[in-house]
Amino acid sequence: MNLRDRVLDFVVDLAPLPAVPVAGTRKTFPVRRLYCVGRNYAEHAREMGHDPLREKPFFFQKAPDSVVIDGVFPYPPASGDVHHEIELVVALKAGGHNIPTAKAKDLIYGYAVGLDMTRRDLQAEAKKQGRPWEAGKAFDRAAPIGAITPLEQSGLLVKGLITLDVNGERRQSGDIADMIWPVTDIIAELSQLFMLAPGDLIFTGTPAGVGAVNRGDRLHGEIARLAPLDVMVA
Ligand code: MN
Repeated sequence: MNLRDRVLDFVVDLAPLPAVPVAGTRKTFPVRRLYCVGRNYAEHAREMGHDPLREKPFFFQKAPDSVVIDGVFPYPPASGDVHHEIELVVALKAGGHNIPTAKAKDLIYGYAVGLDMTRRDLQAEAKKQGRPWEAGKAFDRAAPIGAITPLEQSGLLVKGLITLDVNGERRQSGDIADMIWPVTDIIAELSQLFMLAPGDLIFTGTPAGVGAVNRGDRLHGEIARLAPLDVMVA
């Protein structure tokens, strides 16, 4: 007997489905997986002490239920050094394995402005010890995200300003065109490692200027023509 034949009488409460609103509609994008790209802007790679020219893209995941859509980021436990990383997020409407770069754009549903919030002290300790990054990257509410703008409205995003202001002051600034690995390359590379599917979100890396947040901070992220992201650190 397989699960389909069983009465769905769950023995614990079913967790809510993580989902992100679609800008300008009452529609919702259901989240399946949440992938992130490390060091995808040369200047940020340098500020983290790496040589951007010598590295292939690498990936990690956050828990899908760590998406935050209500603009509230509670300062997480177990860290005294929580950093903001403003990122372009790509939402997938289709999937597959071994996607060629030329076909990658067919998988894109739309884009959003996201924050890859990071417990930098725990990440640094994990790097030093050669341990996994989950404690630094995949904690509760670690992925605030704005509404998704469908591709038909935004057009293919290959250039455009990406910025983050904290309490009205510019902290991060870059251009999508400065990505070491453009979105279509990221999709192609990622699909060599994982079977991509509709509902996947990909955080595509952060420009230079990452830094610590404090309780009460107001974060405002913008990318080109996308719906902006406003987050309060509570
Ligand atoms: Mn990041």
